Amino acid sequence: MSQGLVSAAYIVAALLFILSLAGLSKQETAQKGCYAGAVGMAIALIATILNPSVEGIFFIVVAMVIGGSIGWRLAQKVEMTEMPELVAILHSFVGLAAVLVGYNSFLEHGVLVGAMKNIHLVEVFLGVFIGAVTFTGSIVAFAKLRGLMSSSALMLPHRHKMNLVALIASIWLMISFVEQGGSTGLLILMTLIALAFGYHLVASIGGADMPVVVSMLNSYSGWAAASAGFMLSNDLLIVTGALVGSSGAILSYIMCRAMNRSFLSVIAGGFGNDAVASTGDEEQGEHIATTAEEVADMLLGSSSVIITPGYGMAVAQAQYPVHEITQKLRDRGIKVRFGIHPVAGRLPGHMNVLLAEAKVPYDIVMEMDEINDDFVTTDTVLVIGANDTVNPAAKEPGSPIAGMPILEVWHAKNVIVFKRGMATGYAGVQNPLFFKDNTKMLFGDAKDSIEQILKAI
Ligand code: NDP
Repeated sequence: MSQGLVSAAYIVAALLFILSLAGLSKQETAQKGCYAGAVGMAIALIATILNPSVEGIFFIVVAMVIGGSIGWRLAQKVEMTEMPELVAILHSFVGLAAVLVGYNSFLEHGVLVGAMKNIHLVEVFLGVFIGAVTFTGSIVAFAKLRGLMSSSALMLPHRHKMNLVALIASIWLMISFVEQGGSTGLLILMTLIALAFGYHLVASIGGADMPVVVSMLNSYSGWAAASAGFMLSNDLLIVTGALVGSSGAILSYIMCRAMNRSFLSVIAGGFGNDAVASTGDEEQGEHIATTAEEVADMLLGSSSVIITPGYGMAVAQAQYPVHEITQKLRDRGIKVRFGIHPVAGRLPGHMNVLLAEAKVPYDIVMEMDEINDDFVTTDTVLVIGANDTVNPAAKEPGSPIAGMPILEVWHAKNVIVFKRGMATGYAGVQNPLFFKDNTKMLFGDAKDSIEQILKAI
């Protein structure tokens, strides 16, 4: 393949990536967006392998077959609820790749002198730094999402000062690295600092802020890929990395706004978030349990119902019976709508995807801001497997979730909470909603409970 054809293929691939991002911004066009991205990536891979300067095609193909088979197998096996963990671990691979490319480029570059050499050394240093932070940060995010590590924030004394010292030390190392014309010892020292920095940065962020962390790591992985692109002089990798990096940063910013968090505070490892983590399990009064039959009667006596789903609906895979119950109630003239919190579940848009999968019509699925004022005039709210996203503790200063906007379900006449026990949500904060006079708890797996209500109806 001639160099000109490779460049043309790269331009087509870059355009397809941009179309992919545009498609992914709306539910209706998301699938087309995925296809555009996949076709773009296939073109990019073929053009890269057939590039006249590439050697050792056999090894590349073997590596692709092995990697592709593992990816294929994982993608088939992964549950929807495990997607964020998968995304987090994939980000760690991008980070690791940037570190390896950085070391390779440092040890194996051709003869460089003067400004070109300095630019190359800065590229290597920054690439390895961003890659190492992304690598350990993503592993911590994976461990927190998979429940291998506590989801609450690690509160080491002087943690912000430690982060600052790590940053200043890395800048000083970069200057010395360039001044010395490249030193393996300094590069290794910075890598160790960056690995520890990435670990600490994500470990100090609490459970409720994890969505922002995942999209922030997405952004870091993009910049890590872009830096690898600079080191490899690969324009497409630079463009793709920059697209991922900037779209991840924009998503993080949007999520911070939705969560009422300061963007800078979250990317600086929870800076300014010094709330004391709650022990979480303490109960706050008496809760009232109910039965499926009682809930069925209550629903039939209601004229308006709002359903607020959360992570538990995804775990129970309750979206199909939820759709059925919605239809049954609507057939009886009862107004049913859904209230979706921006971070409900474990990935952006998680609830929207589940409800779309079960064919719930889009026009009754409302964003939190669109529906929050309507709870006052609602007869019954079904809180299906949601906890943090309906937790009034967010209104209390000093709570680990203080300031996070929530669905104010308690303003409705009756609230039914579907859950298996009195466990806290992902942020580890007990929920005063469960102990309010107008709240009743329907214990059990959400799917079983909805099916029992369906039978009773
Ligand atoms: P939560 O994680 O706060 O709570 C889920 C609730 O579901 C639990 O209290 C659990 O209680 C219940 N549950 C679990 N399994 C079942 C089941 N089979 N049947 C019935 N109930 C069940 O959910 P929310 O959606 O309200 O909040 C999401 C949290 O996750 C937020 O803190 C958010 O910041 C965080 N997060 C969100 C991400 C995103 O991008 N959306 C990414 C990472 C984190 P019990 O065990 O008692 O049944």
